[in-house]
Amino acid sequence: MEIKIVKTTSPKEKPQADKLGFGKYFTDHMFVMDYTEGKGWHDARIVPYAPLSMDPSCMVLHYGQTVFEGMKAYRSADGGALLFRPMNNMKRINLSNERLCIPPIDEEFGVEAVKKLVEVDKDWIPDGEGTSLYIRPFIFATECALGVHPSHTYQFIIIMSPVGAYYPEGLNPVKIYVEDEYVRAVRGGMGFAKTAGNYAASIKAQEVAGKKGYTQVLWLDGVERKYIEEVGTMNVFFKMDGEIITPALNGSILGGITRDSSIQILRSWGMKVTERKLGIQEVYDAHAAGKLEEVFGTGTAAVISPVGELNWDGNIITINDGKIGEISGKLYDTITGIQSGKLEDTFGFTVKVS
Ligand SMILES: *Cc1c(COP(=O)(O)O)cnc(C)c1O
Repeated sequence: MEIKIVKTTSPKEKPQADKLGFGKYFTDHMFVMDYTEGKGWHDARIVPYAPLSMDPSCMVLHYGQTVFEGMKAYRSADGGALLFRPMNNMKRINLSNERLCIPPIDEEFGVEAVKKLVEVDKDWIPDGEGTSLYIRPFIFATECALGVHPSHTYQFIIIMSPVGAYYPEGLNPVKIYVEDEYVRAVRGGMGFAKTAGNYAASIKAQEVAGKKGYTQVLWLDGVERKYIEEVGTMNVFFKMDGEIITPALNGSILGGITRDSSIQILRSWGMKVTERKLGIQEVYDAHAAGKLEEVFGTGTAAVISPVGELNWDGNIITINDGKIGEISGKLYDTITGIQSGKLEDTFGFTVKVS
């Protein structure tokens, strides 16, 4: 399918590099493609970034049939642009699509669309240390109807936002609240899919924990509230007695691309990485025995987020004296180094734009 390009006649002023924040500014263009039952995906185009017009009965507004992705483009040393494992995002959006009865997209074409859009707006990739161009592909039901059924029409859109360093003062350990009242997802639900509903289910707990001074919540399983799932919008890793342990993907946990990349890199360093069921009590026991060495989250936005404190039902533990662990720091430097092309990519993670 060809991508028709209509360029803006009124380019926006670009924000200052030190004022970027996260997801506040949007580039000049967006990618749009439509789906109609019987016709498939059609009319792929790059057009000026603009508001959408929708009918109040648009199905996504009522029943939340929608999926999204999050990825980044980085400015490389030679002035070009690099993507990080973009094919994995397109494979995952189809996994999410399948769960939400949304028709699949052509994965290679999805990567092509991202590359084209980045190329058109390449001047929007910021330069500063730790900055990048955040890319948000999403698909939503567009049919005008109030009956509950899969929509017969959809739109696939990609928008992009220049983002600042997640930790402007450098990598910083965060405080995490172990959530034992609300749950994010259950097995058989949509936890493994990147869909709006999972976030709608999570913001209440996030809000309550935020008021108590915590950055994120650590989700426990939805049935027994005993086993660790993930942290807010990140997967979570524990270093205990020299071994790295992360919860196995069980259907209610989102399979992060940063998680998978971290596992590959850690193993390449000869570290033992185990994916298994992990109880919160086991983590507290390891801490009591002096064996809990590091805790960190992994996700596209922050890349690696060291955890300095956990609060489980009022029991507060400090990890690694609240300082960045050796492995967390090294993993952060390695992944961001590969993403920006400063380190040699022996894993084949990066993809050049054009
Ligand atoms: C996107 C996401 C992650 C992290 O996935 P990455 O591919 O590493 O960015 C983790 N948990 C949830 C709930 C997510 O939505």
